[in-house]
Amino acid sequence: DVVVNRIAAGEIIHRPANALKELIENSLDAHSTSIQISVKDGGLKLLQIQDNGHGVKVEDMGIVCERFTTSKLRTFDDLSSMSTYGFRGEALASISHVSHVTITSKIKDSNCAYNQEHQQNPSLVQETMALKYPYVNYSHVLRPDPCTEPLVNKRLTKVYFQLQAEDLFYNVPTRRKALKNPTEEYNRILDIVNRYAIHNAGVSFTCRKVGSNTPDVHTTTSSTVVDNIRQIYGSSVANELLSLKQSFPIYPLKINGWISNANYSVKKFAFLLFINHRSVDSPAIRKAIESVYATYLPKNTHPWVYLSLEMDPKNVDVNVHPTKREVHFMNEEEVIATICDAIQERLGDANV
Ligand code: ADP
Ligand code: MG
Repeated sequence: DVVVNRIAAGEIIHRPANALKELIENSLDAHSTSIQISVKDGGLKLLQIQDNGHGVKVEDMGIVCERFTTSKLRTFDDLSSMSTYGFRGEALASISHVSHVTITSKIKDSNCAYNQEHQQNPSLVQETMALKYPYVNYSHVLRPDPCTEPLVNKRLTKVYFQLQAEDLFYNVPTRRKALKNPTEEYNRILDIVNRYAIHNAGVSFTCRKVGSNTPDVHTTTSSTVVDNIRQIYGSSVANELLSLKQSFPIYPLKINGWISNANYSVKKFAFLLFINHRSVDSPAIRKAIESVYATYLPKNTHPWVYLSLEMDPKNVDVNVHPTKREVHFMNEEEVIATICDAIQERLGDANV
């Protein structure tokens, strides 16, 4: 059973950046306006997220890492009309199967923060953790302890949530071996943070390596989408943006975004796609957009495109495997044609 869980978890959480994406979505679901990320060794040693969202009640702390535990799914009908990111209740369970998870949280009506270590795999704890945490009693989950960490005491007046995942894949040697390069993993982490920071103007994001004083990403609650694009991708693209804003009640479909104009081109297509506020990929949309730009850009160069699509969740295939960022949706061809028309129109206008 433990082994099956670990394999399933390894499929959901492939690398530190996958885990972080889930954690960021949880923070956004909890209505956070500040999300701070700290990373050690590309997230393999430590992946830590702190937010100022509503937090977790002490009585729920023990179970949030159990499979299919979610506070976001009320009835079966909600499955087809969910509006939050989370619906599977699998992310924290998966992360806690392949790392050592500690959650610290304080909710609004409590004057104390609580700390909970999650350990789903007692036998392996014994092997690897006995020296590090001699007080661990190897039970399935540990009773929440009132938190005494100085870090948290400082924040006791605030609503607060922190999750630390340590030693990712310590119990999955093959995965661990496949992720030899912490720099590569850190770049993937930054890519995820950058995407979510741009899509969530109004939320402050920071991402730093542990021990570094200057964060590698730092957006503020007052910066706009374009401010964030400028900060992250530079003025060369920020100065050459066209806004995209259209809605089509028939599908229904809302298109929002910022796309580079015909003056801008790069070697590699930068494509930031969100569907219903989840960062996803769609090779079909990607390809179609590239061909629209092909008539405007020099050969073998590419645009910069940030696109946010909102559609009826009923029409989006949300049950796609979590590691596959690829999504599919109803009326895919028509919707893609609509998106391309909108982009074509914008590029055409700008070129006149
Ligand atoms: P899901 O997001 O699908 O509900 P997760 O495994 O990602 O499942 O999270 C399990 C539960 O843990 C959530 O439903 C939520 O109640 C709680 N949780 C996770 N992250 C946070 C957070 N940052 N703030 C508050 N609650 C959280
Ligand atoms: Mg989640």
